[in-house]
Amino acid sequence: MNNSTKELLTEIQKGEPVFWRNLCLTDPPAFSFSAADVATAEARLKRFAPWIAQRFPETAVTGGIIESPLSDISAMRDLLSQKDGLPFKNRLLLKRDDSLPISGSVKARGGIYAVLKHTEDLLFAAGLLDKHDDYRKISTEPITSFLRGKKLAVGSTGNLGLSIGIMGAALGFQTSVYISREARAWKKQLLREKGVRVVESEQDYEAAVAAGRAASNADPDSFFIDDERSEDLYLGYAVAGNRLKKQLDDAGVIVDAAHPLYVFLPCGVGGGPGGITFGLKLIFGKHVHCFFAEPTQAPCMLLALATGKGSEVSAADFGLSGITAADGLAVTRASELVAREMRTALDGCFTLRDDALFDYLHMLDESCGIRIEPSACAGFAGIRSVAPECGPDATLLVWSTGGGMVPPEEMERYLHMYN
Ligand SMILES: *Cc1c(COP(=O)(O)O)cnc(C)c1O
Repeated sequence: MNNSTKELLTEIQKGEPVFWRNLCLTDPPAFSFSAADVATAEARLKRFAPWIAQRFPETAVTGGIIESPLSDISAMRDLLSQKDGLPFKNRLLLKRDDSLPISGSVKARGGIYAVLKHTEDLLFAAGLLDKHDDYRKISTEPITSFLRGKKLAVGSTGNLGLSIGIMGAALGFQTSVYISREARAWKKQLLREKGVRVVESEQDYEAAVAAGRAASNADPDSFFIDDERSEDLYLGYAVAGNRLKKQLDDAGVIVDAAHPLYVFLPCGVGGGPGGITFGLKLIFGKHVHCFFAEPTQAPCMLLALATGKGSEVSAADFGLSGITAADGLAVTRASELVAREMRTALDGCFTLRDDALFDYLHMLDESCGIRIEPSACAGFAGIRSVAPECGPDATLLVWSTGGGMVPPEEMERYLHMYN
């Protein structure tokens, strides 16, 4: 380990915000998956689209495709420039996964995809469904009775539980969510209203996942959606790449050598930002630069990559608590799969303190009238390090990862927590 890594780790250990650049980048990155894997996931989502449109009428306008808008937030750029004393004139975009239909967070990508994939596997194996069928038959007998006998389980800090709980319940699965200490009360209540079994614990995310995995593996009728290891989750997220490409084209945003794209993604265990980074790199190659945002107390992916030890290291090894108001990012050990895939693909990671989350949350509401949850604000903290050196023709894109389902009273509380 060289001196600069040692210095970095000392800062991390002290709980100081840091910005780390990955020196192991390659072009192309060494991925274990291909564009064909992403195309397979896209095709699967298309097969389910008619059923989704029927079962979730809010998706009827997009024909059952779960997608979010891309917004220009130049008013937020101007406010950031002013407050940070850092004038930058780059185009600033917000990818609105906070407003993804069905579950209001980025987990409506990978989480829902993983449930659909498993459903298809079960129904194909039972001879109850064929690729060429109209998938609306999923809501008819004998499929409904068949799925009611099946179980799903997942470990979550909240949002993955919501996505899998809502989609699992809609398909008829008996769903159990093993939820960690961070989970907001309203998320647990909403799940119970959907008929989901919520197993609460006072432990962290890693322990909740372990408890869910052990219980599910002991039951032959239960399938565990494993956020620490799942290829399906990762590929479900990766579909975002092609979708964003089309939205950028429609908005007249060019991405090439002269017009690079910088993307800032909040990171928990890594599946969401990792899958999206994979999808983006497949399309834009070295012209897209992706950075992950993590809380100073839970920088699991930064530690995984900077030490080169992947999921063998935990934030706890560095004396960090894992406790943060960014509930979706309260993860102390990174996904092994994603740490491996990002090793030569991710441009860097940075950390921020909780109080900064609420400053951004408030500024985004003030400048653009957009209200998102604390975790979803983390990406904004990367701009100050990137803007001075990205050149005037670069586009900056902050990925907003959640907030669509936050109750108004809770949002009011968040809005009063800024400095
Ligand atoms: C889960 C989540 C993330 C990060 O996704 P991971 O797959 O855990 O890395 C970011 N923001 C929000 C709001 C989330 O719920």
